[in-house]
Amino acid sequence: MDNWKILITFIYPHEAHMAKGYLDSEGINSMVHDDLTAQVNNFYSNAIGGVKVLVNDADYDRGIDVLKKGGYINTGKKARIIELVYTNSTTDKNTCPFCKSENIGRKKDLNLISVVLYFILGLSIMFPIYKITFACYDCEKAWKYRKAKKIAG
Ligand SMILES: [Zn+2]
Repeated sequence: MDNWKILITFIYPHEAHMAKGYLDSEGINSMVHDDLTAQVNNFYSNAIGGVKVLVNDADYDRGIDVLKKGGYINTGKKARIIELVYTNSTTDKNTCPFCKSENIGRKKDLNLISVVLYFILGLSIMFPIYKITFACYDCEKAWKYRKAKKIAG
């Protein structure tokens, strides 16, 4: 037990179990710690330092490589910030909401979390499988639309 080392921590237990499943599939033995505490109340998760995925000391370096490959660890590439743009009936989705350029693209991404939850846990789909994001080639912003809430009254 004393040669186990924390490889990565997550806020939510299912994320840790997904990472563990991924490590297992790459032949790395791992275990998840503190997931039960976090399951009781996600608020505690942060307090106890998150849900931990541990690997044997000898597997640590390879584990890091696997997590990088799987996208669990940011390899330094700047993550694109996706902004939320609230729409109403007059919103023109053919132009960039930031610079009004028409030079925009729309990207349909597989929502990996839904897919993995579906295949690994056999859960029925709780989230949309696809998420559509828009990107502007002129100002390089990325965004997705969300319907503005109607103001009651
Ligand atoms: Zn733009």
